[in-house]
Amino acid sequence: MAHWSPWQGCRKISEGCKNCYIHTRDGVDGKDAGKVIKTKSFDLPVLRKKNGEYKLNTKDVVYTCFQTDFFIEDADPWRMDVWSFIKERKDLNFLFLTKRIHRLMECVPSDWKDGYDNVIIGVSVENQSMADKRLTLLQQYPIKHKGVVCQPLISEIDLSGYLDGIDFVTVGGEQGINGRPCDYQWVLDIRQTCIGHNVSFSFRQTGTYFIKEGIRYKVARSHQFVQARKAGIDFIAQSGEGT
Ligand code: SF4
Repeated sequence: MAHWSPWQGCRKISEGCKNCYIHTRDGVDGKDAGKVIKTKSFDLPVLRKKNGEYKLNTKDVVYTCFQTDFFIEDADPWRMDVWSFIKERKDLNFLFLTKRIHRLMECVPSDWKDGYDNVIIGVSVENQSMADKRLTLLQQYPIKHKGVVCQPLISEIDLSGYLDGIDFVTVGGEQGINGRPCDYQWVLDIRQTCIGHNVSFSFRQTGTYFIKEGIRYKVARSHQFVQARKAGIDFIAQSGEGT
């Protein structure tokens, strides 16, 4: 799995950020997670070895900006450089998640048109009001590959009006001792909506507090991904039958 963090640090923007892991972690380490800074790996995708080959070579998706939000305002002076690296590395696919999709049109390069082929944008939504707000925009915006990330899922969400042109939906509970509970029924309801719209669905992890059939379980971190996988409810969209 390849990761690239051109900058790190972020500010909370909605309920889903309440227990954001970068803030929790940096609070423990004594760092200021609210300070957005460029990292040493800012230009990682275009770094080359002595023999001229790129240092970053992978067939996997490059998980980008997972310690920040790609569209955080503080990174505006640096983002055009990052777009140029992404454009140079057409052989790689870059995925980033955002809660600031409302900033897309002011942050994309002039040749964006209907999006870059090698960029996948996942919009994070934690409840219905954020889904209504962010996914309405996601539906309208020109992006080649779109995803919806319901994580942390802290209430039921009806995605039925927001799945046109969506490549994937992932769902997961909230991790950590202060995590808010995730109800399995919410997960199943989203899954059913995805199947109905022929959109790929993945249940990533249960979160720490997981409710199933009215019973609340505390799930050890080491089991949260395993338990979700064991549920066996992932769905892969059938090609040629998209909505
Ligand atoms: S937008 Fe993402 S990275 Fe930023 S504070 Fe919220 S959860 Fe954390």
